[in-house]
Amino acid sequence: MTLHAVPTPSVPYYHATGRECELFETAYDHGLPLLLKGPTGCGKTRFVEHMAAKLGKPIYTVACHDDLSAADLIGRYLLKGGQTEWVDGPLTRAVREGAICYLDEVVEARKDVTVVLHPLTDTRRTLMIDRTGEELVAPKGFMLVASYNPGYQNVLKRLKPSTRQRFLSMSFDFPDPEVEIKVVSHESGLEPGRVAPLVRLAGHIRALSGMDLEEGVSTRLLTYAATLMAGGMGVDQALDVAVIEPLTDEPDVQIALRDLISTIY
Ligand code: ADP
Repeated sequence: MTLHAVPTPSVPYYHATGRECELFETAYDHGLPLLLKGPTGCGKTRFVEHMAAKLGKPIYTVACHDDLSAADLIGRYLLKGGQTEWVDGPLTRAVREGAICYLDEVVEARKDVTVVLHPLTDTRRTLMIDRTGEELVAPKGFMLVASYNPGYQNVLKRLKPSTRQRFLSMSFDFPDPEVEIKVVSHESGLEPGRVAPLVRLAGHIRALSGMDLEEGVSTRLLTYAATLMAGGMGVDQALDVAVIEPLTDEPDVQIALRDLISTIY
């Protein structure tokens, strides 16, 4: 969890794949919350970091997990030198400062988080801090962005319609091959000609996801593989540690993936 807003001195590289940048700006201008849906490692976080920097906004990023409670977002009384002192959580800080708060994988968080988000994501734009009795109205400039991966969801962890319908929503997916080659090449320093087969392999692996694999290979993993290759590692070893092993523990599926690789390399 980021406890201090990360200053955004330079704009992180992000290759747009549609009209997502204009949409983000419009949502920001109107103070509307935004939900980004898409598989892991497809560029959602990078997109938010890019937009925050472009808009000159500080960003508080919270990686949500199943133990994350409303108090983790809002704040709590802590003991300091024998005194109890209120310490704002990242969401409260973002509201006070009119910053962007990004809740990554929001469905993972505990249910009480939803209760906090509702008054903040409708016309009230209010954050209730029960423990201190404060009611903060979010100033212009505050924006709530959340993301989740629809592929991971099970019945118990699903964003309720009453929560979903408070956000504008955008679907993200892995970029088209030409864009993904540019992105992976930019991030890793590996020349586009050597990135192209990696992206082709990713296309085949993604076609398998849902059958033998829980998830397809992410742009992030391709970047890892390309970074290792740019550093001089052989293709087989790079793909082993950056693609095959992270994707599956099943020996049969690993063999199938190696077979797939041998048809490309
Ligand atoms: P997630 O969707 O899980 O939040 P990230 O935003 O962390 O994924 O993306 C993982 C990596 O993929 C980034 O660090 C970046 O290198 C790369 N990436 C994916 N899509 C893009 C894009 N459109 N432009 C720039 N980098 C991208």
